[in-house]
Amino acid sequence: MKKTEIASLKLYRKVFRSYKLRFYKPKKDLCPKCLAWKHKAPGSRTPEGADKMSVHLKQKQLSYKLKDADTKFVQSADNRIELCVITRDLQKTMSTPKGENGEFYYKSKFTTYNFTVFVSGEQQGYCYTWDQTTGKKGCTEVTSCMWSFIKMQAVKGIKEIRIYSDNCAAQNKNQYLFAMYVMASIRYNIKIVHRYLESGHTLLQCDSMHARIENSMKNEDVFSPSQWVTAMKMAKVNNPKYIVKVMEQEELYDFTPLASFQSWDKIKTSQIREEELTLTETQIMKPKRGRPVNWSTFPLKRTYQTKFPVRPDILKGLQDLCKSGAIPAEHAPFYMEHLPSLNLIQQEGDAPNSDVSDVGSDAEIESSDSEGSDVE
Ligand SMILES: [Zn+2]
Repeated sequence: MKKTEIASLKLYRKVFRSYKLRFYKPKKDLCPKCLAWKHKAPGSRTPEGADKMSVHLKQKQLSYKLKDADTKFVQSADNRIELCVITRDLQKTMSTPKGENGEFYYKSKFTTYNFTVFVSGEQQGYCYTWDQTTGKKGCTEVTSCMWSFIKMQAVKGIKEIRIYSDNCAAQNKNQYLFAMYVMASIRYNIKIVHRYLESGHTLLQCDSMHARIENSMKNEDVFSPSQWVTAMKMAKVNNPKYIVKVMEQEELYDFTPLASFQSWDKIKTSQIREEELTLTETQIMKPKRGRPVNWSTFPLKRTYQTKFPVRPDILKGLQDLCKSGAIPAEHAPFYMEHLPSLNLIQQEGDAPNSDVSDVGSDAEIESSDSEGSDVE
């Protein structure tokens, strides 16, 4: 190409701007550890500090390397017939009502939760959502969503799931989650590997799902929590769209009994970098003497027996918004009829059945638990 054919930078800028385009500035890496080190005066940096930073950066590189390698591997359809690679995270809570109306700012809101799973390879996002009358933001909910996801993958013939997440102990590093992994691995003959990204460097693909859902409603009013569910379904314009599962209360299981049957002394959860669970559960656990548990048939029970009532003062605030017209009439029945009816059920003690066995649907899965001894 002749020199005269190359446009000047000035012309390039002029043309570029005429299209009203601008470059996207990627979100900065806001790791507190890295920032603190960066802001330290060179004279005050100790050799120990430098060593710690070096380990931190190596861990970051290692975790990204593993994740990137897995992500690349499952781009080939053949490689993902039996392997499922996912990232997972809980989205920031979503509030209702949301909008420009000044009245909304002074009232407590109704909360919706969303736990997302993004499957690399297929590029399929899953939303597991529930609201504050169904559950909380705890390990019962997160573990139950994962249980539901793993079951679905097992039915599809997946033999190994590799999970990438941040280090949040409440969601990702606790004995109830590990107990569920052991049970799932035994019941479904599936291998589960959970890898934790180095703290401060945990930007995951599933986080872009959160951004997409939030952005889709950025300039929209939300008067009713069901609109958030619709937003999740519609957030992605192209296929595959997000698959949304509304979690029912009877699907929120209590995994604490399972954890209590095991001794977890050997596991220092804060030091876990990679949990690899196979069918040999003794790899990471030693069952307590005299209290064996049959992981294949152990009946799961729901954690909550009744819907959670909305606090009377919060309910009144929401109903006031309906009465003033700030929440349009078509959305009012949720606040004026549905929520009060839940409070009534609570008061009358009309609880749904508490024992929901999860064994039935699993019965066809061949058991590999040779101990065969049930819990007393
Ligand atoms: Zn860092």
